[in-house]
Amino acid sequence: MNNLLDYTLEELKVWMKENGESAFRGKQILSWIYKDINDFDNMKNISKPLISKLKENFTVNMPKIIKVYKSDIDGTEKFLLGFEDGNLIESVLMRYKHGNSICISTQIGCRMGCKFCASTIDGRVRNLTTGEILSQILVVQNYIKERISNIVLMGSGEPLDNYDNVVKFLEVVSAEYGLNVGQRHITLSTCGIVPKIYELADKEFSITLAISLHAFSDEKRKEIMPIANKHTIYEILEACRYYINKTNRRITFEYALVKEINDSKEDAKALGKLLRGMLCHVNLIPVNEIKENTYKRSSKKAIDDFSEILTSFGIEVTTRREMGSDINAACGQLRRSYIETQE
Ligand code: SF4
Repeated sequence: MNNLLDYTLEELKVWMKENGESAFRGKQILSWIYKDINDFDNMKNISKPLISKLKENFTVNMPKIIKVYKSDIDGTEKFLLGFEDGNLIESVLMRYKHGNSICISTQIGCRMGCKFCASTIDGRVRNLTTGEILSQILVVQNYIKERISNIVLMGSGEPLDNYDNVVKFLEVVSAEYGLNVGQRHITLSTCGIVPKIYELADKEFSITLAISLHAFSDEKRKEIMPIANKHTIYEILEACRYYINKTNRRITFEYALVKEINDSKEDAKALGKLLRGMLCHVNLIPVNEIKENTYKRSSKKAIDDFSEILTSFGIEVTTRREMGSDINAACGQLRRSYIETQE
C-alpha cells in the first residue's frame, strides 16, 4: 500500500491518468487529506468506483501519539510519536505570540556523530519518508486543533542526508494544495553537507538555511563534529555565499556554547572575523547538559560577553531561549530516555 502523504500533486495526477481517471481528481483527493479527512468514504466529491480504487492502493499513514510531555516552565510540548514499524521520533511544539512553531525530525537516529547530540548515539536507523515528515505536523495540528505556521527541521536526523524526501516535503508543505506554509516560515538546519547545500540553493526555495557551525576553526570543529573531516568551514561558507546569491536569504549560523570548549572571548573574536560582512545571523545556543556526555553549560556572563563581541563585528546575534528544559527538549533526548525505560 502506498502512503498518500508521500505523493506530490504531480505524482498523484500521473497515477490518476495511468489508472484511467482524470488528473484533476488528484487535487480533490489531496485537498481532503490536508483538511484532515483521511477516510476515503468521507470524500464527498469522489465517485464510488474511484473510492474503491483508492482503498485498494492507498492508505494515509499517521503516527500514533505515544506520549505528550508539557513543560511547566514555558508550555513547550514534546510529542513522542510511533510509526507502524515500531520506530519512535520526537516533534516539539513551541507556542509564540506570532504563531505555533514545530520542530520536526527527518530521520530515525542520525549518522553524523555530533558529540553533543543524543540522536546520533545509536547511529541512523532509517530515513523518514516525505509522508512521515509531513505527518508529524498533521498529527500535532489535529491534536491541538490549531494551525502550525512555522516549521523547523531541526529534530532528529540530518535533513540533507535524506535530501530527496526532504525536498519533496518542502514542496508539499508549502504548496497551496498541501499545508500552505510560507517558505519564509520554514528553517532547515544542517551540519554542513556541502554538495547538498549547492543542490538546495539551485532549488531556489525561500526557506532559511541554518548551519550548525559550533566552532570557528576546522580543528575545533573536528573535535565535536565528524562532518568537519569531510568539509572545511571555508567550503561551507563558500556554499553559503552561493546559497545567498541564489535565494537572497540570510543564513543563520547555529553556535552551541559549551563551557570552556568554545565559549571564550578569543573564540568569539575568531568567529566574528570569520563571518564579518556576510548576510547572516548567529544564533547562540547554550548547550543542554545531557547525561551521555560531560559538556557543561556556559555561564550567563560568558554568553553575554560572546554575544557582545560578535555584535561589535556588525553581526546580528540572538541567544536561543531555552525551551522545555524540564522535558528533555534537546533533540533525541526524549526518544532515548523513553526507549531506556522500556528496556
Ligand atoms: S546535531 Fe543534527 S546532524 Fe548532528 S548528530 Fe544530531 S541530529 Fe545529527
